[in-house]
Amino acid sequence: MSGSFKRSKGDGERETTMGQIVVLDQNMVNMIAAGEVIERPASVVKELMENSIDAGATKITVSIEDGGRKLMSVADNGCGMDGEDLARAFEPHTTSKIKTSKDLQGISTLGFRGEALASIASVAQVKGTSRIKGETGANCIEIDCGSKSSIRPASADYGTTIQVRDIFYKLPARRKFLRTTNTEMGHIAEQFTRIALANAPASNKQGLDLTLIHNGRELYRLSDKDNLHSRIAELFPIPSSGISENLIETESNEKGLHILALMGKPSISRTSKKFQYIFLNGRFIRDKFISHAIKEAYRGLLEPNRFPVVFLFIRMPYEDYDVNVHPTKSEVRFYNANLVHSQILGCLREKLLGTDLQTQAQLPGPANLPGSQGSPPTGHRSQAIADAMAEFFKKHRPVQTQEQFSYKSKQHLVALHPPTGQIPESHTDPATASVFQATAGSAPTSAEMSQPEPEIRPEQRKFLQIHDSFIVVQTNDGFDIIDQHALHERIIYERLSRRILHRTPDGGKSKLESQKLLIPESFEVTPSGSDALKTNAELLEKLGIELVPFGPKTMAVQAFPTLLVKADPLDFVQDLIDLLDRKDVKLDGERLLDEVLNMAACKAAIKAGQRLTMSEIEQLLLDKENTESASRCPHGRPTTIKFSITDLEKQFKRT
Ligand code: ADP
Ligand code: MG
Repeated sequence: MSGSFKRSKGDGERETTMGQIVVLDQNMVNMIAAGEVIERPASVVKELMENSIDAGATKITVSIEDGGRKLMSVADNGCGMDGEDLARAFEPHTTSKIKTSKDLQGISTLGFRGEALASIASVAQVKGTSRIKGETGANCIEIDCGSKSSIRPASADYGTTIQVRDIFYKLPARRKFLRTTNTEMGHIAEQFTRIALANAPASNKQGLDLTLIHNGRELYRLSDKDNLHSRIAELFPIPSSGISENLIETESNEKGLHILALMGKPSISRTSKKFQYIFLNGRFIRDKFISHAIKEAYRGLLEPNRFPVVFLFIRMPYEDYDVNVHPTKSEVRFYNANLVHSQILGCLREKLLGTDLQTQAQLPGPANLPGSQGSPPTGHRSQAIADAMAEFFKKHRPVQTQEQFSYKSKQHLVALHPPTGQIPESHTDPATASVFQATAGSAPTSAEMSQPEPEIRPEQRKFLQIHDSFIVVQTNDGFDIIDQHALHERIIYERLSRRILHRTPDGGKSKLESQKLLIPESFEVTPSGSDALKTNAELLEKLGIELVPFGPKTMAVQAFPTLLVKADPLDFVQDLIDLLDRKDVKLDGERLLDEVLNMAACKAAIKAGQRLTMSEIEQLLLDKENTESASRCPHGRPTTIKFSITDLEKQFKRT
């Protein structure tokens, strides 16, 4: 387009005049490029630290003043530059890291675009000092928003120091966008954290010695002697974050992909992905395939709106991905994203499923005990607590004797588990009579039958139901508190999915057993609801739900799965239609089935507030033993919280 023209922005509004095309001078080009690379002070710190790492530094000291607004200084002991290179480094598109287009195909350095120093120097006052190891003198150069001084001799130790002052001072619009000192410093600390994690010492590699100072105060001093775990503990020190004590480690090396993962237990999950640190060959990245793999690995272990804490370190050949897709290089393009996804998912999921993820109770520390005011209880107080406890147990002693609490013989247990789907005789309380139909009704599969009966461990002999909602069970080393609804939900969910995924002996697909309703229950259905039902006819058949047309806009439930006898058929079918007819997300077959089973389990499970008989509790505890992931409900909430006697003794100052 040439010449100039006027563009009107609607009736009577301001007119814009576009001038003739000119070629921008280099400094303008750099300033515009800086807009991409240098978003805020933290970006400067990131780029400078990455340069130091590329220069082979083993020690980097970062000093910040005023959240980076006043000064950012990064000093390293890397290879250094001679005078000529030091002058060239601040020119645009100058790099020592790539030479030809071929080099772009396997970038092993953090930088390669040759634009960071030029960008930084175009928006701030910069001083660079550098000395090559073995040389006697250092050189320095100063650049003020693009205008460069000549190279001068200086005195400095070997390595390079870059100081950046008054960022954006000639760009008031951008300076105005800087946030408070605390916020900007938070971003800087985050960049520092990522680099510190990516460069933690490991058995096969020396770590980086890193220091971060703000306004003269040392925020982090990380030694190259520690290891990844202690580095995490130093970087996330707040005791309540609980991160470093709650990590599960796993490693795999297959198909050209080395994976090391430190996975946070579900109990320390977060409300955002902020605590997901993914590193690819030492570079912090964000990647939607990997995030998805992580999410899938924790499926069923976390509630849908929670995100796990994960530190994931991936190593793979540099040729297998492209980093040249994003100015800050925080995104990459994998040539085989499916492989990356499946390897990560497999590695993480296998470890998570093989780990006991029971929630350990967090007892308050002595300082947090009400009324303690931080001082340990005196002899008098601890005696008072002990007396109060003794009094409590005297009053609340369950009426049953010890024998009544203990498990019955095996024969009795079998009787509680009738394969016929009938209500066990012992369940005479009408309020709870059908509670166990859902579980007891599912005849044990051959696999279940062949399993040895779980050992009746003596520590399980004592239990009691409290508030008609929780069950307290004595264990070997303390006691568990079980959420009766969450646990029963998990048990039913596993039974249902085992049933449905199980193939019949003739190789056919299994479906849930259903029974005809005496009187079909009718309901109104919208056209889209009725479409959704038609589309999912196969799923309905699997579930053992039979629906028949009853009028123009009406249908009726004719048969309903026996396992879900506790759920109300109409309520269930209505919710099922809502699920099948969801417009926002389209679930694939497997996910949809999973959602339906979740819903079914929730509806059929005993509720909070429901009183259980002794034998019902026994049955629940026994079923817990046979349930694979009994520690979490299908939505990922814990079913059981463990308390250890050692903790209790500590609380009561017995130790
Ligand atoms: P890139 O890192 O993409 O190459 P930069 O603008 O960040 O581009 O740096 C330009 C060049 O300056 C680098 O390629 C490197 O040769 C040199 N350089 C920058 N920082 C350092 C440092 N701390 N030590 C030694 N050389 C450095
Ligand atoms: Mg660089």
